[in-house]
Amino acid sequence: MRPIRPGDRGPAVTEIRNVLTSLELLPSGGHGDEFDVETERAVRAFQQSRGLSVDGRVGAETWQALDAARWRLGARTLYHAVPDPLIGEDVRSLQERLLEMGYDAGRADAIYGIRTSRAVAQFQREMGLKPDGTCGPHTMGALRRLGRKVVGGRPQWLRESDAIRQAGPTLVGRTVVIDPGHGGTDPGMVVPDGPLRWTEADIVYDLASRLEGRLAAAGVRVQLTRGPTPDTCLPDADRAQLANSLGADVFISLHTDGHANPAANGVATYHYGTDNGVTSATGERLAGLVQREIVARTGLRDCCTHAKAWDLLRLTRMPAVRVELGYLTSPEDRARLVDPRFRDRVVEAIVAAVQRMYFPIERDVPTGSIDVSELRAIVAAGTVVD
Ligand SMILES: [Zn+2]
Repeated sequence: MRPIRPGDRGPAVTEIRNVLTSLELLPSGGHGDEFDVETERAVRAFQQSRGLSVDGRVGAETWQALDAARWRLGARTLYHAVPDPLIGEDVRSLQERLLEMGYDAGRADAIYGIRTSRAVAQFQREMGLKPDGTCGPHTMGALRRLGRKVVGGRPQWLRESDAIRQAGPTLVGRTVVIDPGHGGTDPGMVVPDGPLRWTEADIVYDLASRLEGRLAAAGVRVQLTRGPTPDTCLPDADRAQLANSLGADVFISLHTDGHANPAANGVATYHYGTDNGVTSATGERLAGLVQREIVARTGLRDCCTHAKAWDLLRLTRMPAVRVELGYLTSPEDRARLVDPRFRDRVVEAIVAAVQRMYFPIERDVPTGSIDVSELRAIVAAGTVVD
């Protein structure tokens, strides 16, 4: 094909000018079929932006790029076509949207490959759509409804924050799933200690049942992921599925830590997140509240909050945290953990954190200030502590 060049006239030039106008490289309103100086300048700008050789003429390569550029997101259904993938500006826009929201769409290269298709399927799953990896009218509708406000967070997490905002400050009727770690054939961390044999599984079960009692008294529906002596140890993925199937509002997993060095001690709280900064905003908030309340009320050393992509945190569809409540291998931490009064303080801290999760951020209260024993009366009266 002979390149279309300055001085040419005809429908092909009109077509080129239309695409350049839609890309805002030519002023709108201009109609004409002449490849004039203005058109040449716009073609050069287009070639530059697409990494093509800049000659101001429309040969096969530039024609193909202009053709791909014609597509606006939503104008056609996008899917993973084999062996000739769909290419276009619409694909690039979609990829950019997915990346902004934290989906792994790879590079925004304008090619609808398998990775883009998988990212679309993930988005569809989280939006309650059929996860077929095809971007048609329903998926476009969902993207449009989300608008531009979802940046740096998946819609699932936006929904979590929305659900929490709408719930109001009351705990009554919420469902909290408490997950005492390990159990069954897996005792977790074991520390032989004179006549006593403290296992992580036993200590976290005791904490879980105390927490269950406190939360239930505040009107919360509580479910534990295991009993005191289960036959087998439930994998983390199953614990997450259990919380999902119960429609839990909050998920709290309890563990204790251990280290070869007996000097290692302190409390740490984990929420979902990845190395490239994708994080569950509500999970992070809950983790921060749990961590600060525990540090303030127990004096355990502050080992901070951390983002992890563990199954337990990744697969749960609600704000989820895992707390490592001190080191059983630390003589200091262990002495505290075996004291039931200390365990009560830990439990009060977690209840206070869950309550603060439901306070609007602007009405949140200082750490350590909620009197958990009065929570039920406060909740019943429908007032927020100031
Ligand atoms: Zn553990």
